[in-house]
Amino acid sequence: MTVISHLIDGARVAGQGRTADVFNPATGQVSAQVGLADRAQVRAAIDAAQAAFPAWRRTPPAKRAQVMFRFKHLLEQNEARIAELISQEHGKTLEDAAGELKRGIENVEFASAAPEILKGEYSRNAGPNIDAWSEFQPLGVVAGITPFNFPAMVPLWMYPLAIACGNTFILKPSERDPSSTLLIAELLHEAGLPKGVLNVVHGDKEAVDALIEAPEVKALSFVGSTPIAEYIYREGAARGKRVQALGGAKNHAVLMPDADLDNAVSALMGAAYGSCGERCMAISVAVCVGDSIADALVDALVPQIGALKIGAGTTCGLDMGPLVTAAARDKVVGYIDDGVAAGARLVVDGRGHRVAGHEGGYFVGGTLFDRVTPDMRIYREEIFGPVLCIVRVDSLEAAMQLINDHEYGNGTCLFTRDGEAARLFCDEIEVGMVGVNVPLPVPVAYHSFGGWKRSLFGDLHAYGPDGVRFYTRRKAVTQRWPQRKSHEAAQFAFPSNG
Ligand code: NAD
Repeated sequence: MTVISHLIDGARVAGQGRTADVFNPATGQVSAQVGLADRAQVRAAIDAAQAAFPAWRRTPPAKRAQVMFRFKHLLEQNEARIAELISQEHGKTLEDAAGELKRGIENVEFASAAPEILKGEYSRNAGPNIDAWSEFQPLGVVAGITPFNFPAMVPLWMYPLAIACGNTFILKPSERDPSSTLLIAELLHEAGLPKGVLNVVHGDKEAVDALIEAPEVKALSFVGSTPIAEYIYREGAARGKRVQALGGAKNHAVLMPDADLDNAVSALMGAAYGSCGERCMAISVAVCVGDSIADALVDALVPQIGALKIGAGTTCGLDMGPLVTAAARDKVVGYIDDGVAAGARLVVDGRGHRVAGHEGGYFVGGTLFDRVTPDMRIYREEIFGPVLCIVRVDSLEAAMQLINDHEYGNGTCLFTRDGEAARLFCDEIEVGMVGVNVPLPVPVAYHSFGGWKRSLFGDLHAYGPDGVRFYTRRKAVTQRWPQRKSHEAAQFAFPSNG
C-alpha cells in the first residue's frame, strides 16, 4: 500500500508513525495511506522554511514571478493527471476537478504579477526635501491549512501569492485527498522554486497545533468548517499571529416572481448538486418569493434531479460523483432523516442511491425538500451534500431578513429581472459574496474571496488584493537628504507642512 509522503526542504519525506487511510469514494476501497506528521516532522518543515526565507526574501520579485509563470504552464500541461487524482480521492467529476484547477491557476497568474503588486506607494516632496514611501515586506514563515473539497484550488489561493510576496510556506492539506495537492507542490519545485520555500506536511490536529504553537510561524490561513476556523483563529490570534480563517456556509438563492425560471433552474441544478453539494459556495436553500414561483420551481426541478447522471467521478460526462467518505454520506443521510421527521416535504429522496458496479461507493442522489422552515436543522446547519431546501416567503424583504438572520454569510444570489430589487439586495444583504443571476459568485483572482459573520474570522479576505495585504507588512519610510552646508535649527513643534 502506498504511503503518501510529506514534502520537506524540496524532498519527499516518508511519514513516521501514525497514518490515515485514503479512500476511493466511488468504490469504498482504501487506495493509499497518508503519513500524519508528528511535531518533529512539522518542526523539520518549519526549520526548512526558516532557512529558506532570507534568500527568498532577497530574490527580486520579477524572478519570483518567473517561477510562477513556469508553474502555470506545468499546471496546464498536467491538467488531466491532476484532475484524475482529484477525482480518485475526492469523488468529484473530472470536468469539475479540471474547473477547480483552472480557478486555482487564476491565482498563479495573479501571483505572477508580483513586481506590479509589490511596487508600493511613493510620494515625492511629502515635506521639504522629504520623500516618503510605503513598501510591503514579507512576514517570514507562513502556513496554510486546507479542506478536502478543493484539494487543488484552495491551496492555490494561498501559497502562490504568499510565496510571490517573498514568504516561505508550510501547507497542511486535507488528509482525505492529499495526492493532487502533493503533485502540484512538486510541479512548483519543477518550475524552479528553491527548496524549503514551500513545504507540505500531511496530518491532522497534531500537525495543526504544532503550526499554531510555533513562534516562527507568523501567519495562518485556514479554510474549512466553522468550529475549526474559530479554534484556529482564537489560538493563532492569542499567540500574536495574523489569522484568516474561512469557515462554513449556508448559501441562499432568492427567486423573485419575475425570475427567468428556465435559467434559474439550470443555475440551481449546477449550484446545488455540482460536486455533490460539497462546495462552500453551493446553493443549499432556494427562497421563493410567492407560491407560484415555488410551485413552478418544484415542477421544473423534479425531472431534472431525476435525470442527474451519477457515477464514479472518473467517468467522463457525469453530473455528480459520490460524497467524500462514508462518514460524509451518513451525515447527509442523517440530515435527510431529520428533515422528514421535522415535517419538511421530501419531494425527491436521494437516500439509498445505488450505482451499478460501484455498490461500495458513497453515493447519495440529488435530494429536494419543499416547505422547509427556519427552525429546522436542515435549514439552519450546513449539510454539505446534494440537498436543496425550498423555503417559501411572501416578499423580497422577508427573504432578505431570513438571510440576514442566518449565522453564516458566505455567498448568496438573487434571480430577478428587476434592477431596483437587485440594487436593494446588493446594498443591504449581510453576505460577503453576492450574485445577481449568478449562482456561484466566487470572485475572480484579482478580487478577494470571503464571507461575513461566522463564515470568516479575521479582517482580510483570501487571495487578490486582500491576500497581498495579508501576506505582507507595510513599512512606511520617510527620507530626507539635507542640502550640503545647510543647517536647520531644532524644531520643537510637531513637524508639519503648516
Ligand atoms: P475541516 O474543518 O474538517 O478540515 C479542514 C482542515 O482542518 C483539514 O486540513 C483538517 O485536517 C484540519 N482539521 C480537522 N480537524 C481539526 C482539528 N480538530 N484541529 C485542527 N485542525 C483540524 O473541513 P473539511 O471537512 O475538510 O471541509 C469542509 C468544510 O470547509 C465545510 O464546512 C466548508 O463550508 C468549508 N469550506 C469553506 C470554504 C470557504 O471559503 N469559506 C471553502 C471550502 C470549504
